[in-house]
Amino acid sequence: MDPIASQAEQLRRRISQAERELRDLHRQLDELEAPARDPPAHQDAPDPAAAAAARPEWKWPLSEEEYVRYGRQLVLPAVGVEGQLRLRAAAVLVVGAGGLGCPAAAYLAGAGVGALGVVDGDTVEASNLHRQIAHGAAGVGAAKADSLVAYCRALNPLVAYASHRGHLTPENAEAVVSPYDLVLDCTDHPTSRYLISDICVLLRKPLVSASALRTDGQLIVLNNPPAPQGEPAGGPCYRCVFPKPPPADGVLSCGEGGILGPVVGVMGVLQALEAIKLIVGGVCDRASSAPREPAAPPGLLLFSATAAAPFRSVRMRGRRSDCFACSAGSSLTLGGLRSGSLDYVQFCGVAAPVSVLAPEERISATEYNNILTEQPGRKHLLLDVREKEHFKIASIPGAINVPYSTIRFRNRASTPDSEKPQVEYIPESLPANAAIYVVCRVGNDSQLATRRLKELGLGRNGERFIGDIKGGMQAWKREVDYTMPFT
Ligand SMILES: [Zn+2]
Repeated sequence: MDPIASQAEQLRRRISQAERELRDLHRQLDELEAPARDPPAHQDAPDPAAAAAARPEWKWPLSEEEYVRYGRQLVLPAVGVEGQLRLRAAAVLVVGAGGLGCPAAAYLAGAGVGALGVVDGDTVEASNLHRQIAHGAAGVGAAKADSLVAYCRALNPLVAYASHRGHLTPENAEAVVSPYDLVLDCTDHPTSRYLISDICVLLRKPLVSASALRTDGQLIVLNNPPAPQGEPAGGPCYRCVFPKPPPADGVLSCGEGGILGPVVGVMGVLQALEAIKLIVGGVCDRASSAPREPAAPPGLLLFSATAAAPFRSVRMRGRRSDCFACSAGSSLTLGGLRSGSLDYVQFCGVAAPVSVLAPEERISATEYNNILTEQPGRKHLLLDVREKEHFKIASIPGAINVPYSTIRFRNRASTPDSEKPQVEYIPESLPANAAIYVVCRVGNDSQLATRRLKELGLGRNGERFIGDIKGGMQAWKREVDYTMPFT
């Protein structure tokens, strides 16, 4: 066959194919429009009762939508229909709608817990968004609790949600926590950790607690099983594991210490996982008389993103016989908590504001800027005592970076000439009486560093000025250079 004849044959085949398809489409349209065109002989409206009667009764424990939505987890031997029913019967409270709370609440909503409450008194800030994944750019300024609930509701509308806008306090803790079966501590400060643990002991709620900072995280399941105070078979509480709070000035917040988004995300996801395991295992199933699985021995899970083996687990002991909260001799009561007699802030100590310098030992950011501009040749030293990661992002021109952690533990260098005490971070070229100014992030560490430098003898008995810049780099940005990135 010559090429032209071959091409013509192909075209004829395609035309005949298209004509068949066209006839088929006409037939389908005809069938679709036929009832409207040719009404049936009897025009009575369909009887809903008859239609319902014709439909077989729904006789399964979950709804049709639930079988579809939760099908992938229903087929797991560890869950099954019984586990899903336990999830649906469970009410879970997430305290903290931040980096831990966002993924934890999202996975619990996704898994189909019956009720999910979120407690948070803060509003969404732009600096939250890199890790607090349920909040969006459009939600900056909104209440975090509302924002997280809205995210979860969009994910799974079958769950009943409650948004508690406000911080958990000793006064409101009982009322907020009581309706729930299980609590997740997704907060980031020791004050709230002790409060949440105490109310969980008093109300006998299991508690999944996690924390994350920089590239590390930790996770522990507490109060499991949630036995009454003094019952040794109960799981340890937060105070059993950490009887004393960390020193207040050693507590780094995510703002100061930094945090990598996926690190806190990992810990939040693990909290949801532990919560689901507890619920499916029956820990919240108060109505059931079926014997529960014995609680796994408590373990502290440590995560380090930079370690060769990122997960480590440390076995924990049970309840401490002398625990302030859960021991037989404990004086912790709901009435005492409600009355506000327990001061958690005082117990954990107050880190800020530091005030150890006299007014004449401090200058403002504006005053330091005046020195730079009015006496440009004047020899002096500006020590920036922030950690080097902060310093590398942005600093005042001419500043030398010596982190406070270095100054704090550095002793005076041994020198035969006690008239001129030397420490290695002070340039030898600096004249003996040249002033030393100290700046930090917000003006706390700079005071402590100034004090330390004087203790090292660098003040030469008052001959040399050593002082700090009030308000630190935050004040510098506000008063002098608004373009300075502040981290
Ligand atoms: Zn305890």
